[in-house]
Amino acid sequence: MNFTCADCGTKACEQRNYDKMPDASVCISKNTDQQWFKDLYDEEDLMIAHNAAVTEAAGYCRQTRLEETMAFAYRMGYRKLGIGFCTGLSKEASVLARVLRDNGFEVEAACCKCGSIPKEFVGVTREEQLHPERDFEIMCNPAGQAEYLTSRGCELCIILGLCVGHDTLFIRHCNAPVTVLSGKDRVMAHNPIGALYQADSYLSRVHTFIKDTFG
Ligand code: SF4
Repeated sequence: MNFTCADCGTKACEQRNYDKMPDASVCISKNTDQQWFKDLYDEEDLMIAHNAAVTEAAGYCRQTRLEETMAFAYRMGYRKLGIGFCTGLSKEASVLARVLRDNGFEVEAACCKCGSIPKEFVGVTREEQLHPERDFEIMCNPAGQAEYLTSRGCELCIILGLCVGHDTLFIRHCNAPVTVLSGKDRVMAHNPIGALYQADSYLSRVHTFIKDTFG
């Protein structure tokens, strides 16, 4: 097993404690020149990073992610926000749009089924459909969502409950900055890391999931 930050647990980089850090052969903080990291940030990145840090500190343990999302957008000067949502969370998208508008933001939204393109287009056979008994099913269109929202001038796009993989395509196609209000998890009430909290007890099955599922 290769050692990674996920196996470290010292949090030594958080305190800039070089004595506590693991060996340079495995520790990113020890083996990478800080300037290399700093050079990654252009002007816009620095502004985003600054406002993200200020938003974290200002609302720490008091503001919900919804409030932090609005605070971050406000600080960034983003006034037109795009919501890329899953049709299964249409009610939540409606509430989100109302809350954002109540706070002075202009809102665009695109549902995952926008375009009404049958799944056949991406090679899904009738047998592979969620409901094979149906003549057709409409595919999720995350590339279309992202491109539509950015074409409408959205300055920040908010992902609300997109499926695994569909979020990948959304982010890949979105030319505006993206933030995630919620991932999609139909089992864990859209709180995906609930599965991590249960991974060593009620959901211990996750440790052998690939083997059990794909052989
Ligand atoms: S950067 Fe170093 S100290 Fe920080 S988590 Fe990774 S291994 Fe640990």
